[in-house]
Amino acid sequence: MFNILKNPTPRQIALASAGFISLMALVFHFAVSRLLDLPVLVEAVILGVFILTGAYLINLFYLKKYIYRKVKVIYKTIHRHKRSPDEKAPGVEADQNIIEEVEREVNEWADQQQQQLDRYRAWAEYRRKFVGDISHELKTPIFTIQGYLHTLLDGGLYDDKVNMTFLKKAAKNVDRLYTIVEDLSAIARLEAGNLVLEMQAFDIKELTEEVFEDLEMKARDKKISLEFKEGASQNYKVLADREYIRQVLTNLVHNSIKYGNVNGLTKVGFYDMDKNILIEVADNGIGIPNHHLLHVFDRFYRVDKSRSRAQGGSGLGLSIVKHIVEAHKQTINVRSTPNVGSTFGFTLEKA
Ligand code: ADP
Repeated sequence: MFNILKNPTPRQIALASAGFISLMALVFHFAVSRLLDLPVLVEAVILGVFILTGAYLINLFYLKKYIYRKVKVIYKTIHRHKRSPDEKAPGVEADQNIIEEVEREVNEWADQQQQQLDRYRAWAEYRRKFVGDISHELKTPIFTIQGYLHTLLDGGLYDDKVNMTFLKKAAKNVDRLYTIVEDLSAIARLEAGNLVLEMQAFDIKELTEEVFEDLEMKARDKKISLEFKEGASQNYKVLADREYIRQVLTNLVHNSIKYGNVNGLTKVGFYDMDKNILIEVADNGIGIPNHHLLHVFDRFYRVDKSRSRAQGGSGLGLSIVKHIVEAHKQTINVRSTPNVGSTFGFTLEKA
């Protein structure tokens, strides 16, 4: 009995409402015909109105109650938040196509769940690959250091022909490890997505001059001259995070030296582009074959692995650059021809 009131099945609703209306109609019929002596037609009309109203109200009451209970369970499942006491639970509107509405919301919910699942899968795959890449990158210098140290311990230390060379090579690989770990923590910070940019207006040419000074020694070692393009005599003010942009310029100019030829040339140019300034770092170095161009911004991607490693590269420099430029909601691109040179260009907002 209580179950019919609380949680009725469609059959119980139909039986209960039909039974209740018939019973009430009979009672009404006998009561009216006994107490009032009405003409048959009037009595039939009153009875008809009574049955119609009763059937409408009882069915509406049960349907609302029945559908509402089911819908409530569905809503509770798909809307994960807990309702506050003064927040109204979603009710059932008598004129609303509730089944269609619930179906739409459930489909929307299922789509969201699928998207979230896809994101989790992509993230898990990304992490697996990242961890694999890191251990691969760390292995090479560690093995090299291990080899040199063991050779020194096994007697090489007393062999004046090799001891200093081996120590220097081991130290160089420790430097490489340090670069990789530094770049990895930079990438981790950038990819965490909570990069806080300290935007300020500054002179991009001045910052480039500072970067040139920092890299002067490295450029001199390869007799590469660091210059500004003709027409870049003007000073351009940009709105960006100065320290992050210093990192971008350092990585790009450093690459132009690492992959530049002896007696080469690196030129930095600035171009006024309406709302933005385009900054280009161009070299006349070894260049990059066309089919590699799409990937040079990928983590650990190297065109020539041995050359990059010999230069102490981590393979992360350009992906750090891309992250920083994109965090500024700007773009970066590259043009290059093997044995002619490469040009990396990125934009910054004009101040
Ligand atoms: P790396 O630490 O190896 O230099 P980057 O992410 O900075 O890593 O660069 C990725 C790869 O792109 C490099 O290994 C190199 O092959 C190529 N590359 C980058 N800059 C230049 C350049 N100016 N000229 C030629 N090749 C370059």
